Parts: sequence; structure tokens; C-alpha cells
Amino acid sequence: MLTPYKLLTPGPLTVTDRVRQAMDFDYCTWDEDYKAVTQKIRHDLLQIAGVDPERYTSILLQGSGSYAVEACLSTFSYPGSKFLILSNGKYGERMLQMADYQHLDYETYKVGYDEVHDPQVLDCLLDNNPDISHVMMVHSETTSGILNPIADIAQVAKAHDCFFFVDAMSSFGGVPIDMTPIDALITSANKCIQGVPGFAIVIVRKDLIEASKGNSSTLSLDLFDQYQEMAKDGKWRYTSPTHVVMAFNEALKEFKERGGVEAQHARYQKNQELLQEGMEALGFTAYVPKENQGPIITTFLYPEGQTWDFQDMYHYIKERGYVIYPGKLTDVDTFRIGNIGEIYPEDIERVLDIFKAYMEENNNDKN
Ligand SMILES: *Cc1c(COP(=O)(O)O)cnc(C)c1O
Repeated sequence: MLTPYKLLTPGPLTVTDRVRQAMDFDYCTWDEDYKAVTQKIRHDLLQIAGVDPERYTSILLQGSGSYAVEACLSTFSYPGSKFLILSNGKYGERMLQMADYQHLDYETYKVGYDEVHDPQVLDCLLDNNPDISHVMMVHSETTSGILNPIADIAQVAKAHDCFFFVDAMSSFGGVPIDMTPIDALITSANKCIQGVPGFAIVIVRKDLIEASKGNSSTLSLDLFDQYQEMAKDGKWRYTSPTHVVMAFNEALKEFKERGGVEAQHARYQKNQELLQEGMEALGFTAYVPKENQGPIITTFLYPEGQTWDFQDMYHYIKERGYVIYPGKLTDVDTFRIGNIGEIYPEDIERVLDIFKAYMEENNNDKN
């Protein structure tokens, strides 16, 4: 029997019993009730985003978040289009890999994993490359936990008449986002809305999706085609992840009951602050400078001179009810702790106690 644990990982994450129970029914995909649920979800997402349903639409796509990122690259590129991809982590790098796979024309603007992009540098880059038509970046880089300043970057992109796309996978619903300069936003079911994995979400300007017919080089990732079908009556093209959709529908209800984006943001922020303070008191340091640290996940470096085996520490914590995440940096030895999902300040306090106990037990080795 598996010892139960809570996930301190940035998705999939720990969901509520209500969300889990919503999956305990086998829905029929073409049934009116089910299609109405899909339409309601699409509508609710626009409401959470704070956009005008006349100007924006939301499209659900089977698969994990990356499927929608790739679908956007394919659906919104056209002959003559050129992307500028900003990267400061693994998810930015994944976009570059996708652009390579699709043979897209693109430029890159990379900075270190603990640094944010400079709007003035972007301005020069766009001045020098007037053929760039699309700017794409990650909001919350889950690699490190850094929160990128999308508003500043978007402003420059729009001043150059570029489309601005954002991977807001791990921030949408957990961090307030002004959609005004955003042409397309990508997120997924299993991040800050607190559903289970199985589909991705694109919130996009209607005129943009309606002008994208024939662009996509792949059929199953063609967002235009998916939109055409779904906008009619909520019918998914191809098999829809019915249980995941019902779980997400319940997660949305809970999300509203809890007070929406503001409340979610306040809780995550509280979790993050408690965690960072507590870990720093134990001798760990956060990898991302405080001014750029986001509320979703934190990367920690080990205390000076310490080299605990991650696997050993991981198992110790797991046996006590929590699962942490390995680091994703190539140059420094780190681990990560997420605080989204059904995680509350009490959980953070408990995890800090477990770390403290682990350190006490393992310091004996050195004496
Ligand atoms: C989770 C996540 C993704 C998508 O990853 P999948 O494994 O495909 O779900 C993309 N970008 C960011 C920033 C993420 O946090």
C-alpha cells in the first residue's frame, strides 16, 4: 500500500477530494450535458482571464501543456512569419526545440536562468530585425520559479506591431495577468486552476484564430480546426478526456468559491514567503533573486559545504507525507519546492519541520 503524500510539485499537483470525485462517472462525449460542460469551461476561462468574449475565445486541446505550445507555433505561423523566442529556462528552450522541429524562422533572446529579459535590449532586437512578427515567452519559468515581467516585454512587442504570445502554464489562475497586450495565452488543466492532467488551454484573440486557417502543418495540433468544431456546440474533435474535463469543471467551481485569482495568488504568495523564510533560517538559499521570485515554485541551493544526497532527502520527506522536486539547473546542485495545489501554510510549516529533523539526523554523520 502506497503511503499517502502531498505533491509539492508544480503540476500535477494535489487536488481536492471534490475534484477527484467528479471523475467517478463515465460521461458520453456527444451527449448534450457533456458538451454544455465544455462550453461552460470555455466561458469561465474567459471570465477568469478578464477578457471580452467578443474579442477572445478559449480552445481546449487534448494533451499536456506542451501540446498547446506546439499547436500555437504551428497554427499561428504562416509563410513569411518570424518568431522571437525569449528564453531563461527549460520551458523557453522547449519552445526553441519545437520551432526547430517545425522548421520555423526564428530568433532567440536568451538570458541566464536567474535573470529576466531587458525591455530595452528587446527594443533594439526588434529594431534590428523588422521582419519579426511574433514574440513568445514564458511567464512563470517553472524551471527556476522566476516570474518574468511580461507586461514590460509585451509593451515593447506591441510597439513593434508584433503578436505577443505567452506560456502562462504555471501562472494562469495563480498570478493576476493583464490580458490587454496578450494575443494568445497558453495554460493547462493541471496547474493553478488545480485540475488533473489531460488537456491544455489556449486563450486567443478571435480574429487571430479565425485568420489561421490552413497554417498548421499538423492535423491533430491544428487549433483552427479544433476551434471550428468546439465553437459550434462544445464538441471536441477526436476523443475528449471526459474524466479530466469533469474534474476541471469541479476545480473551476471551487476556484470561484475560494475567491478566484486574487485569493489563489494570496495563498500561494503566503506559502512561498513562509517557505523561503523557513528554509533560509535552516541555511538554504533561494536561487532566484527575491525581486524576481514568483509565488509558484522555489529553487533552493544546499547550505554552504553541505552535500546531502537528493534521493535520500527525497525519500525521508516522502515517507513523512510530502514529495519535493529535483532541480532542473545544469550548472548548480539544487532542488525545488512548489506550493500550488491543495497546499496551505500548515503544510509548509510541516515540511519545514521535516527538513529540520532531516538535517539534525544527518548532521550526526559529520560529528
Ligand atoms: C508545466 C509547464 C509546461 C507544460 O509542460 P507539460 O509537461 O507539457 O505539461 C510548459 N511551460 C511551463 C512554464 C510549465 O510550467
